[in-house]
Amino acid sequence: MICYLLANQAVIITHMNKYIDIGVNLTGSSFKKDVAKVIGRAQQVGVTQMIVTGTNLLHSEQAIQLTQHYDSICYATVGIHPHDASEYSSDTVSELRDMLQQNNVVAVGECGLDYNRNFSSRKEQIHAFEAQLELAIELQKPIFLHQRDAHDDLVSMIKSCRKDLDKVVAHCFTGNIEEVNDYMLLDMYVGITGWICDERRGQDLQQAVKHISLDRIMLETDAPYLLPRDLQQKPTAKNRNEPCFLPHIASAVAAHMQLDDDQLITAAYDNSQTFFGMNGLS
Ligand SMILES: [Zn+2]
Repeated sequence: MICYLLANQAVIITHMNKYIDIGVNLTGSSFKKDVAKVIGRAQQVGVTQMIVTGTNLLHSEQAIQLTQHYDSICYATVGIHPHDASEYSSDTVSELRDMLQQNNVVAVGECGLDYNRNFSSRKEQIHAFEAQLELAIELQKPIFLHQRDAHDDLVSMIKSCRKDLDKVVAHCFTGNIEEVNDYMLLDMYVGITGWICDERRGQDLQQAVKHISLDRIMLETDAPYLLPRDLQQKPTAKNRNEPCFLPHIASAVAAHMQLDDDQLITAAYDNSQTFFGMNGLS
């Protein structure tokens, strides 16, 4: 909570909540010009750490570079998004394995299945996903999942190797109660974005979050995508989401889970630190 004494323009910070944005696409072209300012704005509102999403070899490498520039602020995931699954070759595994040994690389992903657009064929997606599941098992790294219109296939693939996997998160979850229940049965974490702020598309999700265990929820913006629809504040760049909007998303999630903001924010922060093993990192 921040108290503003407007009369003399003094600002007293009584207690600032801390947040970890577990999914930010900071390597995208829309952040090229002002990434330092974007990170600065996030820190000003208490977003102390950001997990930069790797979606293919190039973006994974760029995510690692950001972790070097912003040590102990930015962390990276490394993986091949289902859209890029057609690029997956036998060399890809060894490149990913090398990257996953680096400092501040905290998860395999994003990887998974996306049958909505099928930029890569289903067969290619399944092949690339299987290979990344094997890598996560081999290195005992957490896995950062993307799923769209492929819930049943994804669940059956996770189920078949769940006992061997370390921690698992369904990032940018937008589904319904049944889907969340499937994930809870698989002892998975769930990442919630500003999708929940959408009064039309977000209705299923608004009900589903009530079924997420408090020790399994995490928060993310998925910036620059999914700008919360009910945001009062104007984004710096038109329609571009930023990690500084995470507190707005947190309040919406807390309201739908019928929790105090502080309770949800503390839980999500602790869960994120545990999930990504950030306590022991620099
Ligand atoms: Zn995704």
